[in-house]
Amino acid sequence: MPITDSHLRAVHEEVLARNPAEPEFHQAVQEVLESLAPVVARHPQYVDAAIIQRICEPERQVIFRVPWVDDAGRVRLNRGFRVQFNSALGPYKGGLRFHPSANLGIVKFLGFEQIFKNSLTGMPIGGGKGGSDFDPKGKSDREVMSFCQSFMTELHRHIGEEVDVPAGDIGVGGREIGYLFGQYKRLSNRYESGAITGKGLTWGGSLVRTEATGYGTVYFTGEMLRARGESFDGKRVVVSGSGNVAIYAIEKVHQLGGTVVACSDSSGYLVDEDGIDLELLKEVKEVRRERVSAYAEHRGRLVTGGSIWDVPCDIALPSATQNELPEAGAAALVANGCRYVAEGANMPTTPEALRVLTGAGVAFAPGKAANAGGVATSALEMQQNASRDSWTFEHTEIRLAQIMKDIHDRCATTADEYGAPGDYVVGANISGFLRVADAMVALGVI
Ligand code: GLU
Repeated sequence: MPITDSHLRAVHEEVLARNPAEPEFHQAVQEVLESLAPVVARHPQYVDAAIIQRICEPERQVIFRVPWVDDAGRVRLNRGFRVQFNSALGPYKGGLRFHPSANLGIVKFLGFEQIFKNSLTGMPIGGGKGGSDFDPKGKSDREVMSFCQSFMTELHRHIGEEVDVPAGDIGVGGREIGYLFGQYKRLSNRYESGAITGKGLTWGGSLVRTEATGYGTVYFTGEMLRARGESFDGKRVVVSGSGNVAIYAIEKVHQLGGTVVACSDSSGYLVDEDGIDLELLKEVKEVRRERVSAYAEHRGRLVTGGSIWDVPCDIALPSATQNELPEAGAAALVANGCRYVAEGANMPTTPEALRVLTGAGVAFAPGKAANAGGVATSALEMQQNASRDSWTFEHTEIRLAQIMKDIHDRCATTADEYGAPGDYVVGANISGFLRVADAMVALGVI
């Protein structure tokens, strides 16, 4: 979709010129700006206050050297990032990604998405993101600790419960958060639980945080189904990925009566027509930290070289990484009768694939709405830390389910109000934008 409004086009050109060689960031900005034409037409105050230019420019970006020593005694080097994108609604909030592909453009796209996602949760959290090109895969626990301690030795100056609150993302789970929080505690000489989320249950973590992104994506999909008079009962579901988001999406789909018949990792995709055996998958991925091929030694079959989107399904939940669902994948989903796609990952659907899906009438939920349950539960963890309380699983899950319903309804209502009924992309972008934009106007030119 071209950007037609002249103000938005000018902002877009400025973003491209000022941030060369950052294709993922450009893609994320373009998708939001495409939705904002009716907002600009209706609210000239945002143009006058240069809100859209300002929202596309991070408030602060930190890039740092991360030296560490491996098990062989060799000095290794990685690069660390923290992009503090927008703090109009609250402290910067967003995960850390440790993956060899991580670079400034990817961290910026994630941070930009996070602004709108966090706004959609209705909670007082700004947007930020960070990470490193460090690859935890194949590293010993000691090496991961050495890296995390070095990373935090720089990052600690920039974070804090009222400043910036990191959490996990790809490559950063409970183990990494533990080492990061430990080093933060040591350097700051404070038990500042609210400075990091995704913590372990015995040291300030929240029940349901581990499950929240996957569960939340399925709750959001459940609301989409309900709005169309359907449910998960008897539905065939494909979930790409097999990390934290995918595993708990699979768990919740099964609890709600659907069957997940395929998942994947970079070694290939796994088809198990009887439904993915979650205990086996958790054992392989979370305990043994192995590939899905190890699952296929026991059940199902591993397909290498093909595309998981060729597996027929009613519902697809791309939950691996950005741009993993290309145009051909979307065409295959549509041809096989898929009618719902909700993004568990951040920006997994390419713009071309999105056009195919929406053109075929597939109900589509963008990640900034569908996967907001993770960060929303991080905000619930911060609430528990602030009040020195810990809630039950049941209470926390009810809060998560309600938040996802509210996000769904807010996206649907906003899409209606701005002339795009049923378009969750427009609904999410506009309603996420409005809350931040109003706060930015109120806070003045800062
Ligand atoms: N990385 C997650 C996301 O993409 C969670 C962030 C958080 O909990 O702060 O939203």
